[in-house]
Amino acid sequence: MPLPRLPSIYLSDEHEALRASVGAFVERHIRPNAADWEAAGEIPLKLYRVAGEAGYLGVRYEERWGGSAQDFLSTCVLCEELVKGDSVGSAVALLAQSEFSLSALADEANDELKQTWLAPAIRGELIGAIGVSEPGAGSDVAAIATRARRDGGDYVISGQKTYITNGPRADFVTLAVRTGEAGPRGISLVVFPTDTPGFQVGRRLDKLGSRASDTGELFFDECRVPVSNLIGEEGRGMRYILSHFGGERLAIAAFAVGIMERLIELGLDYAHERTAFGSSLLGFQTWRHRLADMATQLEATRGLTYQAARLLSDGDPGGDMAVSMAKLHAASAVQKVAAEVLQLHGGYGQIEESPIPRYYRDVAGFSIGAGTSEIMREIISRSLLKTKETS
Ligand SMILES: Cc1cc2nc3c(=O)[nH]c(=O)nc-3n(C[C@H](O)[C@H](O)[C@H](O)COP(=O)(O)OP(=O)(O)OC[C@H]3O[C@@H](n4cnc5c(N)ncnc54)[C@H](O)[C@@H]3O)c2cc1C
Repeated sequence: MPLPRLPSIYLSDEHEALRASVGAFVERHIRPNAADWEAAGEIPLKLYRVAGEAGYLGVRYEERWGGSAQDFLSTCVLCEELVKGDSVGSAVALLAQSEFSLSALADEANDELKQTWLAPAIRGELIGAIGVSEPGAGSDVAAIATRARRDGGDYVISGQKTYITNGPRADFVTLAVRTGEAGPRGISLVVFPTDTPGFQVGRRLDKLGSRASDTGELFFDECRVPVSNLIGEEGRGMRYILSHFGGERLAIAAFAVGIMERLIELGLDYAHERTAFGSSLLGFQTWRHRLADMATQLEATRGLTYQAARLLSDGDPGGDMAVSMAKLHAASAVQKVAAEVLQLHGGYGQIEESPIPRYYRDVAGFSIGAGTSEIMREIISRSLLKTKETS
């Protein structure tokens, strides 16, 4: 049974209509296939198409490229509902396309690049990935070493990326490269077509969780890409990456909200049905109270996440801190809820036919991907320190 939800001061009827439509999509296209896709380690290419046709790959983007020009709250609702199909990896793969790989293209690229890459990706005809992380540069994005040397009208790219979601099957990568000096000012973003000679997919990485999303290593050996594939201006890549982290972090916070809701529903159902010592588990105060704590954590996370979404949509300078707080809190809250619901299920929580162990594994990466919890604390504390410096 669906959980009772506090009335939201943030959501409109349109957001709720989107929730209902994504919910129906998940029941039809994701839940029946979740176990198979988790085992296969990837979603079928057709799912990108079907999601594109449903309008879920471009909710925030301009209508002239096929998007529906909605706000970040719509992204939240989309993410919350997509993860409820018991395959977090499917939702991650779709958002790696629609949010992670496309946001900088949508906001910073010229119309020609948008026509060639953004519009077909929004339709689900092309698959995109975001290529920032490298073996020697994760949290420290400014340390990336993949080099793009200018040669006539081309960039010649050599280097390596790792942990790239959708990477093994991407048609293009929104790629962070070093075009200039060491440090943040020497970084640019280019659209990298994966049929470029010299490009190779390395290992597909076997992950703890989100297993239906494929994640891999990418290698670049003297790959020639026209300079016209540059997104925005040369040397401003770091700025673009940082500003678009907001959408990625928000997506993860919203995934956490959806997962908590699903897990608490599963926990309530199980606690109602399972008897021990002549009582349902709900007869024990400890479980009633722990479920109450979980429901409170869920609403606290939702409130913080929606507030961050509103600030990001409004372009408010407080958006960065709010989204860092939302992601920091969401990752920790969903990991605690997953552990509690696992415990509530007793031995059954250990059995793979139940979705509980899968969710438990999936949420472990929420304090890592799109910026670790330590980095979220760094961002938040920087804002706190600013108030000290100005007083
Ligand atoms: C499943 C998955 C999918 C991913 N998908 C993508 C993708 O599509 N594209 C992409 O570009 N990247 C992707 N990533 C990479 C992800 O963004 C990085 O893993 C993340 O940013 C952390 O970098 P790292 O793994 O190199 O860890 P490191 O940066 O080496 O960090 C190791 C530890 O040190 C801590 N640490 C680092 N710096 C500090 C500091 N200043 N203060 C305190 N502690 C610190 C970290 O918090 C962490 O606990 C993915 C990762 C995973 C696991």
